[in-house]
Amino acid sequence: MNPPPPRNGTEPQSEPRIIPRTDHGLGRDAFPPQALEILGRLEERGHAAYVVGGSLRDLLLGRHPKDFDIATGAHPEEVRRIFRNSRLIGRRFRLVHVYFGRHYVEVATFRATPSGREAGSVVSDEGRLLRDNVYGTERDDAYRRDFTVNALYYDAQDESLRDWVNGLADLRAGRLRLIGEPTQRYREDPVRMLRAVRFESKLGFHIDAETAAPMKDLGPLLRTVPPARLFEEINKLFLNGYAAAAFVGLRRHGLLAVLFPWTEDVVAAEASGASLAFIERSLADTDARVAADLPVTPAFLLASLLWPPTRRLAVAFHEGDGLPWHEAHVRAASVLIARQRRLVEVPRRFAEPAQEILGDQALFDGDPNGASERYLRRSRFAASLDLLRNRVGHDAEASRHALWHEAWERSGGSHHTAGARSRARFSGPGGGGQNVAPDGSRGG
Ligand code: ATP
Ligand code: MG
Repeated sequence: MNPPPPRNGTEPQSEPRIIPRTDHGLGRDAFPPQALEILGRLEERGHAAYVVGGSLRDLLLGRHPKDFDIATGAHPEEVRRIFRNSRLIGRRFRLVHVYFGRHYVEVATFRATPSGREAGSVVSDEGRLLRDNVYGTERDDAYRRDFTVNALYYDAQDESLRDWVNGLADLRAGRLRLIGEPTQRYREDPVRMLRAVRFESKLGFHIDAETAAPMKDLGPLLRTVPPARLFEEINKLFLNGYAAAAFVGLRRHGLLAVLFPWTEDVVAAEASGASLAFIERSLADTDARVAADLPVTPAFLLASLLWPPTRRLAVAFHEGDGLPWHEAHVRAASVLIARQRRLVEVPRRFAEPAQEILGDQALFDGDPNGASERYLRRSRFAASLDLLRNRVGHDAEASRHALWHEAWERSGGSHHTAGARSRARFSGPGGGGQNVAPDGSRGG
């Protein structure tokens, strides 16, 4: 007889492990009253209801969650009926938002990972889940989640944790482990690879060897993900205060080569490490801005990631095709932005300023005294200057930035309008502007 396959704790069990408050330390008072109220009302009507996902994970780690997710046995229509102040939302799967003034708590019905045969689910040729609106039990709901640390359930009635997948042990060990068979789970949803890198950088966790192993081979599946979803996920990676770590993680797992192949080419081929140092400076700067609650924008991020390959192509256009220096940069920027947008959808309101910031860089290789006032006063010039500062770093060359900055100030430019800031706050983390307003318009 064959021995059973080794178990790693993520295989389906028939019952969860119930962990009392004394063993995890999290009391009801850690949760906002609105979340507790929703749990209470669902339970009154006989529905199971728990706090789940990232909010519970973050609380257990002593972090401040940005929102609270609730999972319940009640169907969305029932939830909708129980809470008058609620809305049904979602296309990929249906959720209910329960409103308290302007704020809402998301309530999701227990779901199952569909096999592809059920009504409501569709699977692509690569095994990717295209739709997964299949309701299930609490147990199904635990096993369809991505990482064990994201699959804990908090029962506010008795303050216990319900753990189907050894999530608490992983959380305490700082370990990210996919539930189930990693290859299959990445095929179902390649975005899980980016989520692994994201939680690794955000939480300072390490990705378990089995969970990390398939990424190098399966990375290209990210190209099958709808481009708008990729853009959203990349923003989460780079605009939430841990971009420098995320960049290192993407490279380590071979994913930068999939998402930003031209950036990876230059960084990997360059012996001096100058491009890498430039990107690290830009990302560290972005992280510092997030920490200081200043706006950051996808436009500046895109320009930063594309500057090294843009420069390389511009030099080729100049030396090879004899294009004038500035024109060579404008052309190179437009080529790289267009190529990049075929991989990851970047809305025009971010792509356009990014292209302008890149083209402007040619100017800085010349003398600020020759620059026209009209040019210096252009709306996004401040962002171009920010990128220059990262190019020259903090060495002797930094005087070049200082000279240009002076010229720009003389022309009447000024940083950080109030408008850019307030708009950024509305779009929350991941939406702001680095001297470019979050909507890509004039910000300084
Ligand atoms: P954060 O909100 O801090 O970014 P999170 O873990 O809450 O992290 P969400 O995208 O808000 O992430 O998702 C909530 C929960 O839904 C996750 O904790 C996880 O259990 C589940 N989940 C989210 N995305 C996936 C996915 N692609 N595959 C499987 N489960 C997922
Ligand atoms: Mg969340």
